[in-house]
Amino acid sequence: MVTIDYNVCNRCGDAKEKRCERICPGDLITQDEGGWPVVRPLEDCWACTSCVKDCPVAAISLRLPFQIEQDAGASLKASARGDKTFWTITDRKGEKEEFTLEAVRKNVS
Ligand code: SF4
Ligand code: SF4
Repeated sequence: MVTIDYNVCNRCGDAKEKRCERICPGDLITQDEGGWPVVRPLEDCWACTSCVKDCPVAAISLRLPFQIEQDAGASLKASARGDKTFWTITDRKGEKEEFTLEAVRKNVS
């Protein structure tokens, strides 16, 4: 399940279509009347992380599954830059760990 930090989101500079809105394969992200992105319905999100990786300001994070303490605030954030994706995992104590992965790209013909 994803959460959007509205203190960080900049509404993609008031672009008509937000990046998170465009990239969600399930068409789950829309805008409220103020132009802020909302995930609706949240329970339909299957945590593919596309919106997490594509947000230019890292405003979206993935709440980790209950097995690893979702309610305690553990989260996973990602930012895609060039051919790399930078991940930050925060555990329930607030401790962060960062790691970088090469992006896997698939040619679609
Ligand atoms: S992509 Fe990020 S900055 Fe843009 S509207 Fe979505 S959450 Fe906000
Ligand atoms: S994690 Fe995937 S399915 Fe869920 S809102 Fe983001 S893009 Fe859509």
